[in-house]
Amino acid sequence: MHHFDLITAHLRLDEPHIKALKKLGLFTVADLLLHLPQRYENISDIQSVGSLDKGQDAVVFGQLGGLTTRKSWKSKTPISEGWVEDGTARIKIIWFNQPYLAKMLTDGIYVKVAGKVAGSGKKIYLTNPEVERLDSLPIDRHDSIFKNTETLDETLYPIYRETKGVTSKWFYHTVQKFFAGGVLNTLPDPIPEAVLKRYNLPSLSTALIWIHTPKKAEHAESARKRFAFEEVFYIQIAKAKERAAIITSSSYVVKTDPKHIKAFTERFPFPLTNAQAKAIEDILLDFGGKHPMSRLLEGDVGSGKTAVAATTAYAVATSRPPNKNKIGVTKDGPSASGKLSDLEYGNLQVAYMAPTEILAKQHFESFITYFKHLPIQIGLITGSGCFKFPSKGDSEKPTPISKAQLLKWVKNGEIPILIGTHALIYKSVEFKYLAHVIIDEQHRFGTGQRRALAKKDERMPHLLSMTATPIPRTLALTVYGDLDISLLDEMPKGRKSIITKIYAPSQMEEIYEHIKSELKDGRQAYVICPRIDEPDPSKENALQLKSVKQEAERLKKLVFKDASIDILHSKMTPTEKDSVMRKFLNHDIDILVATSVVEVGVNVPNATNIIIEGAERFGLAQLHQLRGRVVRGTFQPYCFAVTSKDTSGKSGKTMERLKALTKAKNGFELAEYDLTLRGSGELYGMKQWGLTDIGMEAIKNIRMVKVAREEAQEIITNDPELTKYPTIAEKMTKVSKNLHME
Ligand code: ADP
Ligand code: MG
Repeated sequence: MHHFDLITAHLRLDEPHIKALKKLGLFTVADLLLHLPQRYENISDIQSVGSLDKGQDAVVFGQLGGLTTRKSWKSKTPISEGWVEDGTARIKIIWFNQPYLAKMLTDGIYVKVAGKVAGSGKKIYLTNPEVERLDSLPIDRHDSIFKNTETLDETLYPIYRETKGVTSKWFYHTVQKFFAGGVLNTLPDPIPEAVLKRYNLPSLSTALIWIHTPKKAEHAESARKRFAFEEVFYIQIAKAKERAAIITSSSYVVKTDPKHIKAFTERFPFPLTNAQAKAIEDILLDFGGKHPMSRLLEGDVGSGKTAVAATTAYAVATSRPPNKNKIGVTKDGPSASGKLSDLEYGNLQVAYMAPTEILAKQHFESFITYFKHLPIQIGLITGSGCFKFPSKGDSEKPTPISKAQLLKWVKNGEIPILIGTHALIYKSVEFKYLAHVIIDEQHRFGTGQRRALAKKDERMPHLLSMTATPIPRTLALTVYGDLDISLLDEMPKGRKSIITKIYAPSQMEEIYEHIKSELKDGRQAYVICPRIDEPDPSKENALQLKSVKQEAERLKKLVFKDASIDILHSKMTPTEKDSVMRKFLNHDIDILVATSVVEVGVNVPNATNIIIEGAERFGLAQLHQLRGRVVRGTFQPYCFAVTSKDTSGKSGKTMERLKALTKAKNGFELAEYDLTLRGSGELYGMKQWGLTDIGMEAIKNIRMVKVAREEAQEIITNDPELTKYPTIAEKMTKVSKNLHME
């Protein structure tokens, strides 16, 4: 048996089984071994039903039976009853006021039941216990896991992620079978022994044994630590490789005179914040080097990233292209007078890519205000048309032009700044001297895409990636491991700070009254709902969360009868979304009901109110980002975070967590809170970073992330092609696929 053998080479499986494994992405024996348990149950924690006593906290496994639902004749509240039986005895269960629960459950299913034992003497029962449905009992007294417990000191047994057709138990037994087949001897450990030793991590085979059959909780923990480290380590290797590839390539040197930059920024209708000034300084320093910049500009919505981007674009557009002999040397920038009149066409070029058409247009408009005094042409390319600034007739206005014309001017270098959507990276777009790429909100822009943009040019453009997505520092160090980071951790002065309040659903009237008066004053509002559609009404047990479509209808019918209301969600096409956003921007819509995926960054200064329904479902950082949409204008902005249930009393934790919103200084602080308060697995939107749950555990540990980073950099510095590390090299193909959508 070998670790790269197909599972089917060793086991006889039927079709549904094979399908189920495929769905989990498990093909080889190694895949199966790396399908790690999600958690462990401790057999000694489980009680037999026969042994339960009044007042005890019970956790029992068994089969449900005798389910009935009736209404109490006095209070008319629905009462459901049933029992759970485990072979030793049965105990009654009573659910008050949860008729949907009994409907979801059926007689005969396997469950885990946890709750306090009530009643007295022999008449004991469980009220409103937690019930977890199981595909099978993870243990039963006739089961071999239970029989084998003499080999386990702490009687821990693993619980695996299941899918229809493969149970947790099946995983357990199959893994044991493969262990017995000697597969562990064929597994090479990708992590160098020295690294393992240095950080006291178990070897791969030990870690596998410990994680699948821990004799002690510490063993499982230690094994998880190794796998967490391993995941981050691979990402760091991939990032270090990318970085090395970039660092050794050449770029256009952009030399600028600080005087000219100062003259440019002094024309802004505001003074730069210190953070903006520092970011510009960082970037200009990078520009002066021989190798391309790779920098991330991280800053909350409204922190002024566009002005920074414009300044860097200015620096590039006023820099001379290389002359024939000297690569990348700029002898002189604009003339000493600061005038650009002696600049010719054919200067270095900038591409600025935005995630949506509407954002591209907004950037184009901002750039026009920053550049209108200069003889620098700016192009806009989107799926629905192209523009150029300035127009021949009116030096203050842009003019529509054909795509062919625009592309011609970009290719011959007449247009030094090109703003656009993804259309920018189409094959047909060619630059003369593309020196700088600015990317707004697109964290997965890999080296390959960057190279592709530069087309045949052997030089790699500088890269400035911008994001408003607040993530914890450890995660940034990992997923942006190949980038240097500049932080805009300071908001422009004079911004009205947002008034954030936490509400329960019973207090909606108060919010609606406020919104009504705001609408009367000519303002607009967002309403954010957790869902697009109402859940299947037959599934009464589903969480009752507000949905965009139904909420929009309800608001129109019952609350804001005179307002113009429209919706926006992820299932709409980009064109539909754009059109709605435009209408909202033009104030043809008063209230926009939307899901949370609505594009970040769209600036609608007149929308000063945001209601977020089901607020406890969101991460704090995400809530912060959502409310960031209303801090753009000069009017007082408001955010109403509404919980989906009345959270008086027992859900005090929810309220406490949400209260952080009213206190935190910025999104990064909230992202750190999220990480500590919610647990890494739940951290909002973490899947998008390409990390598994176990990888996320590493993210909670700054030391582990730093160590993985240092070790990875060390390896790549000494052996960039990984010739001495074939197993790591092999892993890299998989990792890069995960990291980029290339
Ligand atoms: P984001 O970082 O979200 O992209 P923008 O660049 O769109 O932010 O800037 C938001 C608003 O703040 C814009 O209207 C911009 O003109 C303004 N702004 C940018 N920098 C400053 C500053 N230093 N002082 C005051 N206003 C600023
Ligand atoms: Mg922006």
